[in-house]
Amino acid sequence: MADKRDYYEVLGVQKGATDAEIKKAYRQVAKKYHPDMNPGDKEAEAKFKEASEAYEVLSDSEKRAKYDQFGHAAFDPNGGGYGAGGFDFNMGDMGDVFGDIFGDIFGAGRTSSKRGHGPMKGANVKTSIRIKFEEAVFGVEKEIELPLKDECPTCNGSGARPGSQPETCTKCGGKGQVVFTQQSLFGMVRNVQTCPDCSGTGKVIKNKCTECAGTGYVKKKKKIQIAVPAGIDNGQSIRIRDKGEPGTNGGGRGDLLVTVMVDRHPIFQRQEYDLYSTEPISFTQAALGATIDINTIDGPMAYTIKPGTQTDTKVRLKGKGVPTLRNKNVRGDHFVTLVVQVPDKLTEEQKSILSEYDKTIGGNAGGARKGFEEGEKPSFGLKDHKKKGFGKKK
Ligand SMILES: [Zn+2]
Ligand SMILES: [Zn+2]
Repeated sequence: MADKRDYYEVLGVQKGATDAEIKKAYRQVAKKYHPDMNPGDKEAEAKFKEASEAYEVLSDSEKRAKYDQFGHAAFDPNGGGYGAGGFDFNMGDMGDVFGDIFGDIFGAGRTSSKRGHGPMKGANVKTSIRIKFEEAVFGVEKEIELPLKDECPTCNGSGARPGSQPETCTKCGGKGQVVFTQQSLFGMVRNVQTCPDCSGTGKVIKNKCTECAGTGYVKKKKKIQIAVPAGIDNGQSIRIRDKGEPGTNGGGRGDLLVTVMVDRHPIFQRQEYDLYSTEPISFTQAALGATIDINTIDGPMAYTIKPGTQTDTKVRLKGKGVPTLRNKNVRGDHFVTLVVQVPDKLTEEQKSILSEYDKTIGGNAGGARKGFEEGEKPSFGLKDHKKKGFGKKK
């Protein structure tokens, strides 16, 4: 840590530089040495890291105060001395800095959870919508209305009653932080804390705006269009950028996260991108063969069954399943189980015809027991499909 360059020197600013000057300087340095602009350049990468570290500290008034007082030792966990009374310097926090800075350089729009004075992205808002089965399969445009936080129009977000101003906090003198000294193992240690009276804003509101009760925000009903993509499944979420709560200090809005709940379908069951259904066929259709209409998600589809089709015969309709989220032209399959219906109401005439038929086969079911002889049990439904590996993904 001893050979570390001075943070102000790294960014090329004076010691007394303002926050805006520091931010501007960092943007220039970071842009120049950003890895995206200098692919494979190790020196640029090191410079970029160094600048980011400097900015991480100098952009945070608390950390900057520490640095001004103790230098690099303030952030060195092994440096002894003030380390114990210092704070965590965590490279994991760098994401926040990038979110603030590169959000506008590169339009990256990263989430920021940084506390304090810097721009802070607004909170994400969660909601849910219920859609029909077919809408999930083919996609749908939905409009929802929900109350969203917005800047209060009466006080323009200041929280103060019109005609009055937020006043400078007397506890911290408007700095947003308070310094106190504490007796510690290493002697007197100066500590900097966010001001408890103004929560670090440096301002207190005596005359609160009545519309927003001094919060600076009001909830307004807003209409939001949601493009639900084809292939979405029950429980999946859609992220709509910048439709969450407003940010503070110039930070962007959070996102809106919409969880999709899909209604059941009376005919079709869904498993990933495949569909399952059963289709009744008559005893005579099964025996003689026939062209029937099978219900698919695209509507009825003509299908020819062979003479002698047994109940529980499975049919695979390739590409008749659910469009995939990645590419709606690629679809799963539709598996149909043909179920032979045994007539339960017969006229006298039908009964006598069937009796005649029965005589011709000598009372034997004409091979209907064959399946059992082969040791195969009749099966129905989705579970059995899976058990037999019938619906396995390709
Ligand atoms: Zn207000
Ligand atoms: Zn204060």
